[in-house]
Amino acid sequence: MPILVYNTLTGKKEEFIPQEDKKIKMYVCGITPYDTCHLGHARCYVVFDVIRRYLEYRGYQVDYIQNFTDIDDKIIKRSQELGVKPADLAEKYVQEFLLYSEKLNLKPPKAYPRVTQMMSQIIKMIEGLVKKGYAYESDGNVFYSVRKFAEYGKLSKRNLVGDPDKAVKSMTEEFRRIEPDERKNDPLDFALWKASKEGEPFWVSPWGKGRPGWHIECSTMSMEYLGETLDIHGGGQDLIFPHHENEIAQSEAYTGKQFVRYWLHNGFVTINKEKMSKSLGNFFTLEEIFQKFDPLVVRYYLISQHYRSPLDFSNAQLEQARSAWESLIDTYDFAHFIFSKKGLKYPITPAFAEASVGRQLLNHSITKRFELAMDDDFNTAEGLAQIFSLREEIIQRIKTQDIGSLPGLISLYRYLIEDVLGLKLPEPLTAQKIDDSILNLLDQREKARKNNDFTLADNLRKEIENKDYLIEDTPFGPRLKKKS
Ligand SMILES: [Zn+2]
Repeated sequence: MPILVYNTLTGKKEEFIPQEDKKIKMYVCGITPYDTCHLGHARCYVVFDVIRRYLEYRGYQVDYIQNFTDIDDKIIKRSQELGVKPADLAEKYVQEFLLYSEKLNLKPPKAYPRVTQMMSQIIKMIEGLVKKGYAYESDGNVFYSVRKFAEYGKLSKRNLVGDPDKAVKSMTEEFRRIEPDERKNDPLDFALWKASKEGEPFWVSPWGKGRPGWHIECSTMSMEYLGETLDIHGGGQDLIFPHHENEIAQSEAYTGKQFVRYWLHNGFVTINKEKMSKSLGNFFTLEEIFQKFDPLVVRYYLISQHYRSPLDFSNAQLEQARSAWESLIDTYDFAHFIFSKKGLKYPITPAFAEASVGRQLLNHSITKRFELAMDDDFNTAEGLAQIFSLREEIIQRIKTQDIGSLPGLISLYRYLIEDVLGLKLPEPLTAQKIDDSILNLLDQREKARKNNDFTLADNLRKEIENKDYLIEDTPFGPRLKKKS
């Protein structure tokens, strides 16, 4: 079955065909480390992490690159406010981002290039654009001549060719808001290089001391690591204009080739249907959310909706995600309890997908339905529904005590949840060290039950509960559970 992806460039779902047979060049715009991360950031990186993992599951080698905009107006402004060096401020938030990435179980990209380490390549590209007549110098700055690039607006559908007057009017207003500058020949033009002011960090260039504009870095870095044409370029919806539009203008004017084959954009996180953003002041930082919710609950919540839909944030939504995630964990844990009671071998193999049992299970009807959902523009909401069907099947087998097939099904379950969706199941309780005193109490309770001394059994259960464990009586014997 082909994989269908919604391409912002064409405005429709298309069959995904990378340039090379089994290899994918993928780039996602990284953070500007000037402040702490919020849920909108987490959504973007979790979404593209799942897309990447699913493509890997489908047998592709994915070269995934994500940058850090470690010098930029926002960093300079904030560092001046705080009285710290821009480089120190950026480093602090880069480290914070890396820590959160680990908590959210994001697979590291092949590289995290940084603007400050890419200056000579950026300058070279700007020089090339000047030479080709797409850019001009003005008072130590270099601007891109938007009107020289006839296809400008093709991604954000503000086509200069289609309805130029309307497009120019709306873009002029947006640019005035985003980047006003009298030194431009045309209000539509945007900065490739900015002359530095007194006290600002600078790099030496043919146009004097300065620093790059925001957009040029992504063109340069993606080209440096992945070549002139990318298969997938991702980012949040809010980057479509002007950032990604400008990336296309720079890259395609420079190489004369198509820059990106498939543009993928994730939807906003909203609060009361309004976009969550720093500028609106209605955002939740990851730090705040992680105080109340396990990062994996947050990850679960972020993939519980299709990546292009808006995701409305509320505590109730997160609570719902928590209980769904805990039910997935509980089934996993229960199965391990049975394995330990029955001496069943698990896992089937560490490299599940390669083993013959694994391959067989990957032909399971639920796996097929999971793939159908994910092939349809990475529908993780439906993918999760299929994981719940698999859970139902596992529960049925447990109920009917048809347990011979459990290790295989649980291996498949773990594989789809962990390897493909990137959620991490905690170590089963049977593999954890439980205090001897609790095991003793459990033993005594069993004896009391056998002697029909239910008062004593009940008291012992309460004692165990006071030590933060619950008991579930099952056909396989009493099962301990950690209180959540
Ligand atoms: Zn970018």
